[in-house]
Amino acid sequence: MPDRLTIRRPDDWHLHLRDGAALKAVLPYTAHQFGRAIVMPNLSPPITTAVAAQAYRARIIAALPANADFTPLMTAYLTDDSDADALAAGFADGAFVAAKLYPAHATTNSAAGVTDIRNIDAVLERMAEIGMPLLIHGEVTDHRVDIFDREAVFIDTILLPLMSRLPTLRIVFEHATTEHAVTCVREGGANIAATITPHHLLLNRNAMFQGGIQPHHYCLPIVKRERHRLALLESATSGDPHFFLGTDSAPHAVSAKETVCGCAGIFNAPSAIENYAEIFDAAGALDRLEAFASINGPRFYGLPVNAGSLTLERAPSVVPALVKLDDRDAIRPFRAGETLGWSIVEEDLS
Ligand SMILES: [Zn+2]
Repeated sequence: MPDRLTIRRPDDWHLHLRDGAALKAVLPYTAHQFGRAIVMPNLSPPITTAVAAQAYRARIIAALPANADFTPLMTAYLTDDSDADALAAGFADGAFVAAKLYPAHATTNSAAGVTDIRNIDAVLERMAEIGMPLLIHGEVTDHRVDIFDREAVFIDTILLPLMSRLPTLRIVFEHATTEHAVTCVREGGANIAATITPHHLLLNRNAMFQGGIQPHHYCLPIVKRERHRLALLESATSGDPHFFLGTDSAPHAVSAKETVCGCAGIFNAPSAIENYAEIFDAAGALDRLEAFASINGPRFYGLPVNAGSLTLERAPSVVPALVKLDDRDAIRPFRAGETLGWSIVEEDLS
């Protein structure tokens, strides 16, 4: 087992940065570890136009620490009213790298999401034609479907029919959480891939209830049974190019998490790559971390891999207990206060 590992500078292919004070508080953590990130468009109101994406991108750049080398990759939030021409124009001029499908009411700030995928047939056909990736939050929102089954039902009733209608559409199945999802992606050909979060690799559903209710382990899609976690772990560490890093780091103030009706989301940005290193190390797959973190993602998106590198060492690193948000509130990171087994020791941004 090596004690030191140098990989190409990694990217985060699924990230929530929020806006305003939260953006300023969380962005330095991601910019420190990753060269690029796919930035989710679920602000309130959501990013639906190229103009809004460019303005948000400018706010992200303005919030970067000095000397940071970080490129935000912007996404469009699809609604029932999305226009194929406007989306294609935004993709052509680089305002958007991809478009995100949130089924309406699936997660944080998704009320404006798509109510029926057939409402956006024309948009999806155009995306397939121009090679614009579709990023999917893959859960049905029908409350009659058990929350632990919503991903599998989405795959059977929406994703598989979509893949057969539009086989050339490039799809990223975001934050895969089940055996069913990884099987679908692995067997789905070259036009589908999936991101996997550190928390879905580390937690099963017991973690939400261990020693009492654990609001900081509540996220959407919700963490699943142990056999699903093991399937994710096997896929992430297999070297299979269908799978790559996406943290789904989703900051919420402690006051919004530790309350009745606490909101969904896990803020893992402060120790994202250290968590993944620990996971790959425990699986005996450190030699495959680079493919997952730095190579498979850009290959799928048709982008160059980063020029720089990141060196990790088997040495303790402590996750911050809290990250200050503003004068009143803070954000509690995933595994707050814990000591992880890996540390970043060197970064070459070249
Ligand atoms: Zn997300």
